[in-house]
Amino acid sequence: MIAGKPPLDSARLDRVVAQARREAEQREQGYRERALKMYPWICGRCAREFTRTNLHELTVHHRNHDHDYNPPDGSNWELLCVYCHDNEHSRHIDHIDGAASAAADRADPATHNPFAGLKALLKKPGA
Ligand SMILES: [Zn+2]
Ligand SMILES: [Zn+2]
Repeated sequence: MIAGKPPLDSARLDRVVAQARREAEQREQGYRERALKMYPWICGRCAREFTRTNLHELTVHHRNHDHDYNPPDGSNWELLCVYCHDNEHSRHIDHIDGAASAAADRADPATHNPFAGLKALLKKPGA
């Protein structure tokens, strides 16, 4: 029997995929644990304090919104409670919605009624 490379079968491929997934999970766990060790357990927005019992409500926010950017000095992390974290991420969407409705307001001035002429036409005496 020749000792050589193991055949590239699907089981091996599954192991590779499983390992990649494990590493991604570990990376995620890793930055959360590091951030919690580095910073006091206080929300950076509402200053709510956390203990071991409710620590799951304290989340790690990435200041530049890039979850893969985890510098060891923690400069991209900010501890936020789940509510403030939600706010932080919806703020950008709110801004877009606001701009869109403002544009809609401008595009539909109250002074112009496209049916004004039609109404007059229908009311035309003798028609
Ligand atoms: Zn908060
Ligand atoms: Zn975030």
